[in-house]
Amino acid sequence: MTFDLKNIARANIYNLKPYSSARDEFKGEAKVYLDANENPYNTGYNRYPDPMQWKVKNLLAHLKNTKTEQIILGNGSDEIIDLLIRSFCEPNVDEIIILPPTYGMYEVYGNINQVKITEVLLTENFQISISEVKKVINKNSKIIFFCSPNNPSGNLLKNEAIKEILNEFDGIVVIDEAYIDFSTQESWTEYLDIYPNLFVMQTLSKAWGLAGIRLGMGFANAEIIKLLNKVKPPYNISQLTQEKALEALLNKDEKNDKVQEILQQRDWLITELFTIEKVQHIYPTDANFVLIKIENATKVYEYLIQESIVVRNRSTVTLCFDCLRITIGTAQENKILIDALKAL
Ligand SMILES: *Cc1c(COP(=O)(O)O)cnc(C)c1O
Repeated sequence: MTFDLKNIARANIYNLKPYSSARDEFKGEAKVYLDANENPYNTGYNRYPDPMQWKVKNLLAHLKNTKTEQIILGNGSDEIIDLLIRSFCEPNVDEIIILPPTYGMYEVYGNINQVKITEVLLTENFQISISEVKKVINKNSKIIFFCSPNNPSGNLLKNEAIKEILNEFDGIVVIDEAYIDFSTQESWTEYLDIYPNLFVMQTLSKAWGLAGIRLGMGFANAEIIKLLNKVKPPYNISQLTQEKALEALLNKDEKNDKVQEILQQRDWLITELFTIEKVQHIYPTDANFVLIKIENATKVYEYLIQESIVVRNRSTVTLCFDCLRITIGTAQENKILIDALKAL
């Protein structure tokens, strides 16, 4: 493998002179700030936030055992997906590779950016078909999106397959770890110093319980992060979000306790689902949801809506015929669902 950022980044981005904000040009503490056209009267939020979010990133680096320069933060992981595509893929020339059934936003951002999307289906067991992926890789392939644990199937993708692609693909290999905290597997962040083309995505939206503040995290070698920093809006993470994130990250025990509770509930829910006759298959999960195959899934979905219970109907998705995706809720919520299914 010959990873060279200059060869895979879009030339206009690689050569871009980024906007230099007032807060980029003067760092440190001053007595009087008259540089950013802010309102001088203190509202608690009258100043622009730190464009590089150093406090949050320093804490994250410590928690995740990475370097601060290996981190980028986005307005949700979704912003990071968009930044990646815009930084590496020339519209109407370059391609991304996705492995359906998977998270829908890779395709949406590919389409928004007019970038070709090459699909390589996962196998029946929702694993990577290495030979099929290798077959479609060409000189215009810039990014491969792996989601592990995968949404909507819930399973981890096999490490050996991902390693093989990391070793052979010259472009960026994204591993979306939105659900990694619900899994027994270690994060891929521990391989950042080994694979220059590895890009790990995580989020505060799931295990950390903070979907509302919009904070996504990207981890990669410092060169890739530097490139994306040129493209991101200068103040993409609000002061409010940075404060909330810091507070949460300082309280990781609270997150871990909630994850434990959700995992216990996941076990309970799966045990109960096995007793329901219409349920034909329960797919193995390493996430905070479970995919089930159920007779007449769309009818069941509509019945549940009538009962004021919303699950995700995935029955029209590739390889997910008659499947519903169920998020693990509280003990009470899960019981309401199971009672409704038993009454079906
Ligand atoms: C929920 C989810 C995310 C999180 O997106 P945010 O924009 O950070 O809320 C990312 N990837 C996958 C696969 C998800 O399911």
